[in-house]
Amino acid sequence: MEALLESDLRNCFGEVEELVLPDLKEVVWSNLDFLGWVHPSGHLGYIATLSPKDGCLRGVVLRRHARPSRRVRLELCSLCHHVHSAGGTAMFTITEAGSRGRRMISNVVCGDLSCSLRVRNLINPSSLMHETMYLEAKVWRILQHLHRWLTRTKHL
Ligand SMILES: [Zn+2]
Repeated sequence: MEALLESDLRNCFGEVEELVLPDLKEVVWSNLDFLGWVHPSGHLGYIATLSPKDGCLRGVVLRRHARPSRRVRLELCSLCHHVHSAGGTAMFTITEAGSRGRRMISNVVCGDLSCSLRVRNLINPSSLMHETMYLEAKVWRILQHLHRWLTRTKHL
């Protein structure tokens, strides 16, 4: 994705509580399909992505719940399909815009929202399920799932 400025992020999120911005100097934009990061205390996630409808930047705040893992199991990220061992994912919840918290949709996603880096094999360990898919197809899948989620919650 194209590089964003701090002012772009502040504008697209608007008046949300507890907006903690990431250190943009550390971001390698060419490796990202969307910008996602987690609040230092772990209870919120943030996603900034370009809307396929109008090309404008959208910012969405997600509730983040760590998932208790009592036994060994595999966890699949619903955006990038990376398969983690226990503890690599979190449950993220988006509240439908305008519903005042009455309607929300949750998905299990990489706990650090770094799906873009995982499909480029820039984070270890690699997925526990090997896929022979081109990067472009994986990127397309991430954005399809993300945009569907944001459309269903009326954020696109
Ligand atoms: Zn992921």
